[in-house]
Amino acid sequence: MSNNATEDIVINRAESTKIDAVNFDNLVFGEIFTDHMLICDYKQGVWEKPIIQPYAPFLIDPSAKVFHYGQAIFEGMKAYKDDNEDVWLFRPEENYNRFNKSAKRLAMPEVPESVFMDGMKKLLEIEKEWVKKGIGNSLYIRPFMIATGPGVIAAPAKFYRFMIILSPAKAYYSGEVKVIIAEHFSRAANGGIGAAKAAGNYSAQFYPTKLANEMGFQQIIWTDDATHSKLEEAGTMNVFFRINDTLYTAPTSERILDGVTRKSLIDLAKRENINVEVRPVLVEEVIAAAENGTLQEVFGAGTAAVVNPIVGFSYKEKYYELPKLDNPIALDLKKKLTAIQHKVAKDTFGWTVKI
Ligand SMILES: *Cc1c(COP(=O)(O)O)cnc(C)c1O
Repeated sequence: MSNNATEDIVINRAESTKIDAVNFDNLVFGEIFTDHMLICDYKQGVWEKPIIQPYAPFLIDPSAKVFHYGQAIFEGMKAYKDDNEDVWLFRPEENYNRFNKSAKRLAMPEVPESVFMDGMKKLLEIEKEWVKKGIGNSLYIRPFMIATGPGVIAAPAKFYRFMIILSPAKAYYSGEVKVIIAEHFSRAANGGIGAAKAAGNYSAQFYPTKLANEMGFQQIIWTDDATHSKLEEAGTMNVFFRINDTLYTAPTSERILDGVTRKSLIDLAKRENINVEVRPVLVEEVIAAAENGTLQEVFGAGTAAVVNPIVGFSYKEKYYELPKLDNPIALDLKKKLTAIQHKVAKDTFGWTVKI
């Protein structure tokens, strides 16, 4: 595997751009894609040359293992543009390493850095116009891999396709988020694939989340599968609790995804001299804190929304409302993290990488 394969990337430019038809002030998250995509096929042990070509559907064998056995993984990251028109990534090596961890867990081949990183940078160079300046604007990057190898035989495929697609995004506002603490359903189990960004983890969440939606809640706070006594993630985000001015979040584990936003917020909060404790967070202590008035905030953390404040939660049929604070830590941390990502604030951590 070569270190820098940029010269090895085949580029077939689109004949025209769709960008003029896009209303960048009114974007629904994840619905519009840029003019090009990156494709790299893996055939029996060898990664072929990556190709950047016009965004379009492609043919795939109906017996491809992705359809039958769910070998599918992805990543989610963003590119930002600063006032000098430079494009930046945020901790991309974290996503790259996590992608290959996910690949390993699903018995898929690891993707070389020359394909993932150089391919992504080249694609972003080509799609530079799609990255808009201004806080909140970004280009969402979706690298993913599927098993394209044919055969309805339950064994890992011999053929895979790695791809990157890009979607312009606005600051994400999810409205008021109320959640239910899971008492029965689980997102992940010890020994399972909860720590991987596997497509199957998402489909498994859809049904319980639909039930929650029908009851008027937007998301579920997932608890540990064995005892349902520990609070682990909120929807597809990591979750933080502020009790008595200390932030609590669970340690990552086989059941909890190692979020880049989560770990960045922990470092940022520590720099701001906020007390942060990474330890299992019990349902019981959060209920007690809600009842005695010491529970100040609950929020989710992930790339798409950065921080997603939760206004209230339900547990065992009882609804607990969170106080409306004038200066919530959630929004302060979000502002500070977003400012680093957009190169408005100094990046003292060395997290940002220029394209
Ligand atoms: C992607 C994801 C997150 C957030 O990770 P980031 O790297 O912060 O985007 C959290 N939990 C789950 C289950 C996820 O899939």
